[in-house]
Amino acid sequence: MSFKALGLDPNILTAIEEAGYTEPTPIQAAAIPVVIAGGDVIGIAQTGTGKTAAFTLPILTRLTSNPVPQGQRRRTRVLVLAPTRELVAQIEENVMAYARHLPLKIAKIYGGVGEKPQKDALRAGSDIVIACPGRLLDLMEQRCADFSQLEYLVLDEADRMLDMGFLPDIRRVIGQLPKKRQTLMFSATLSKEIETLTHEFQRAPKIVQIGKRANPAESVTQLVYEVHKHLKMPLLSHLLKDEKMQMVLVFSRTKHGADKIAKKLESTGVKCATLHANRSQNQRLRALDDFKTGTVRVLVATDIAARGIDVDGISHVVNFDFPHIVEDYVHRIGRTGRAQAIGDAISFVSPDEGPDVRKLERFINRGLVRKRAEGFDYNATPQPFIDERPERREQRSSQPRRPQGGGGRPGGGGGQGGGRPSGGGGQGGGRPGGQGGQSGGGRPGGERRSASGPAPRSPAQLPQQNTSPDGARGLWKRLTGR
Ligand code: AMP
Repeated sequence: MSFKALGLDPNILTAIEEAGYTEPTPIQAAAIPVVIAGGDVIGIAQTGTGKTAAFTLPILTRLTSNPVPQGQRRRTRVLVLAPTRELVAQIEENVMAYARHLPLKIAKIYGGVGEKPQKDALRAGSDIVIACPGRLLDLMEQRCADFSQLEYLVLDEADRMLDMGFLPDIRRVIGQLPKKRQTLMFSATLSKEIETLTHEFQRAPKIVQIGKRANPAESVTQLVYEVHKHLKMPLLSHLLKDEKMQMVLVFSRTKHGADKIAKKLESTGVKCATLHANRSQNQRLRALDDFKTGTVRVLVATDIAARGIDVDGISHVVNFDFPHIVEDYVHRIGRTGRAQAIGDAISFVSPDEGPDVRKLERFINRGLVRKRAEGFDYNATPQPFIDERPERREQRSSQPRRPQGGGGRPGGGGGQGGGRPSGGGGQGGGRPGGQGGQSGGGRPGGERRSASGPAPRSPAQLPQQNTSPDGARGLWKRLTGR
């Protein structure tokens, strides 16, 4: 199928060609015709499947086929809500690329930076507003936004927004939007909560799901290195001697751990940056930019900070700590193997993490491949480096949490980094502004199966999973088709 056959506007087709896309991804092929026809959509897809274009391209087409009459004041016609400021910045970068030949103004709104450029952008009447719910609500309460003519609402990563406790803010924002509108919702999982949300905010939505091709669970080679905790750092340094590991995203479960890994790698001459909520917004933007441009080879990140990272060409994802939550594993490995590239996901698993790996293996109903690093001394003397105190759970709690700054309210501080640093927020061409505000046009820039790993079993034989969210099983099911 070609993009042309989907009925997109010629200016948008040109922009897509310039972005180097040759054919639609499965979620695009499925969603674009439904949106162009004016229907509501629930897209079950995670970052990396091309979902941003799946909602942006048809909306842009509809906007151009129905332009605002000349002389009429510009009002916001499209609102995209996303959980983190990093994701907002990435969506904006993509929208700018797809809309580069269209006379549209785009604003991005998120917490942790000054409000002024964002207020100005809203007041100027941006055609498209991409926002984190918390900050947007603050600005709406200050009467900076006019959504009276809004036609399109997109809820991106809806499951994550719920998980982060955004539901009350989302309800309040949507309560102030026109009822007659087209609403698109994207989520990695289709949980009961998401279904409730669709009943509340959508009309007869059509469900579209990702196809197989962009499925990270299939395109990513997943390997497990069983190693004692004190040897994880030497093992990482050992593996990094391989030049094939050119662009490596290392996951640490904690911010403290991420800093230590980065410090140690730097001391061995490996250039790296860190991405976690204790870093300032500028530090996070810088880290991501250095990683994207190849100034640093390794980015060490925590789960929340890395959520939604859209960096092309990540060669390897390393789970320095194995995630407790199955869904986090899926999201982590989804950072590589993006848009049909092949990447490797490597997990370091110490004996105490065995239960988490087995939990994942039960979900996917197969054992992960165990690998031993050639030439690595598995009997090296312990030189404790990583803090072995009982872990303090920084990333997850059973309570819904306020987002780490992704749209935080005033004084909220902290949060996700993302996007490309540049001058703040003026209107018109150029790259996305780092301070939010308005923009328009521009380019986006010896293996073995584990003896301990379970043999494939039928779902009926599998023990009941009480500890993981229901959504994770659904996510795997959709990803793996099993
Ligand atoms: P997303 O899922 O929207 O985060 O997109 C993941 C990545 O895929 C982004 O870097 C996009 O630029 C890229 N992408 C989106 N659609 C296509 C396509 N049809 N062909 C190639 N790359 C694409």
